Amino acid sequence: MHKLARLDQKYVWHPFTQMRDWAKREPIVLASGKGAVLEDVRGKKYLDANASIWTNLHGHNHPKLNAALQRQLKKVAHTSALGFANEPAALLAKRLVKVGRAVPARRNATGIAGASPSRKGLAKVFFSDDGSTALEVTLKMSYEFTRRTGRSRAPKFLSLQGAYHGDTVGAVSVGHIDLFHKAYGGLLFKSDQVMSPYCYRCPFNRAKPERTDARVTRKCNWECVGKVEAKLKRRKYAALVVEPRVQGAAGMIAHPEGWLKRVGKAVRASGAQLIADEVMTGFGRTGSMFACHKETVTPDFLCVAKGLTGGYLPMAATLTTQNVFDAFLGEYEEFKTFFHGHSYTGNQLGAAAALASLEILQGAESKKKRRALENNLRDELKTLWPLAAVGDVRQEGLVAGVELVADWRTRKAFPLKAQVGIRVCEAMARRGVLTRPIGNVIPLLPPYCTTAAQLRKMVRALREAIVEVLGGAKV
Ligand SMILES: *Cc1c(COP(=O)(O)O)cnc(C)c1O
Repeated sequence: MHKLARLDQKYVWHPFTQMRDWAKREPIVLASGKGAVLEDVRGKKYLDANASIWTNLHGHNHPKLNAALQRQLKKVAHTSALGFANEPAALLAKRLVKVGRAVPARRNATGIAGASPSRKGLAKVFFSDDGSTALEVTLKMSYEFTRRTGRSRAPKFLSLQGAYHGDTVGAVSVGHIDLFHKAYGGLLFKSDQVMSPYCYRCPFNRAKPERTDARVTRKCNWECVGKVEAKLKRRKYAALVVEPRVQGAAGMIAHPEGWLKRVGKAVRASGAQLIADEVMTGFGRTGSMFACHKETVTPDFLCVAKGLTGGYLPMAATLTTQNVFDAFLGEYEEFKTFFHGHSYTGNQLGAAAALASLEILQGAESKKKRRALENNLRDELKTLWPLAAVGDVRQEGLVAGVELVADWRTRKAFPLKAQVGIRVCEAMARRGVLTRPIGNVIPLLPPYCTTAAQLRKMVRALREAIVEVLGGAKV
């Protein structure tokens, strides 16, 4: 065993990992990277097929990001936002507000035009450190806003079945993945959950399994939207918290076109706020800058993290409206201040990386590349449908999730104990492709610099791994 692997096993406690299993095999120790390729300490190369847990945008060791960081390092790495401003954070806040604004109202496939009154447009940026802290900030702001505006004295949040918004206590309170969350039930505040538009397992409009390329074949009457509307009528929620267009940790559940727009309208009509958790979907991941833009929805809060710095440094932000900001204004002794902050809030290195990342992201070259990659991914994923263990293949932009099932006709799930996802990912790693399963779902989130040949290799490795672990074609 490599000495670094031994050190790791002796001292490091890994996140979301059964450490007894971890100790049984030599971990891959990653040492360097270039573009979509990572290299371990033994010199073996891998493709980073989940963009290092959904964070990396333009590839590793990117010359422009590296240069931006080196430029910033010559000035200063970090100064505190408690009491002081700094250049990269100020520039970044301006830029985030600009890119966060929804594209001008256009008619999308739902035929419903978007609208965003100016005081409800995103105008202010509160920095934090990661997705979880961005959600903590947002929940506190929304809670306090709801109380101060007199809407409710005991504000409550609504979020989706299978929702994942991070691992800190507040974020877990609005999450609904039992496996992760039930152990800490006693620590959490209560929130309500509502049906998510998980078409593959929809109790109302079941797609016929043999029509494996169609998500919904029976007529959809938007029963899932009806469920949200019903909940919103029953009580004055502070906000609906949602991962727009695709729920990541729930298993890359891509929502049907039109769900977000309809739900956004229902939330507005009820007087509640809309919190868009774009920690995974932000910065081009789903095809547009933000997933909300795809349905011209303007949320009251937009949470960003993972891709903000291009996958270089931990930094996050909560974007919100002038309206929310104003509710925290007052005389000093009124103590309406937003009492929240972290030591590394507004970190200069992180902000410099984020500015460079946005510059690349908004360039014509990156946009063209992302569009081509999205089409490539769609074509490559088609080759998975014939396999018996493949129940559903979901894609939203450059996010894909392949749901493995014990019986594709009945959609019967594999028991978690069988560790099907883990075994398939291990077989992929042997083929030089890295990703991390979510239960029985295999995510693919290629960095935007991934070449057509690299993408083909990622999907081929997945296909071969499924055949190796679970067998071949549907009969
Ligand atoms: C990853 C993720 C989070 C949590 O972000 P961390 O940086 O891991 O704290 C929150 N929401 C969504 C949608 C995520 O994908």
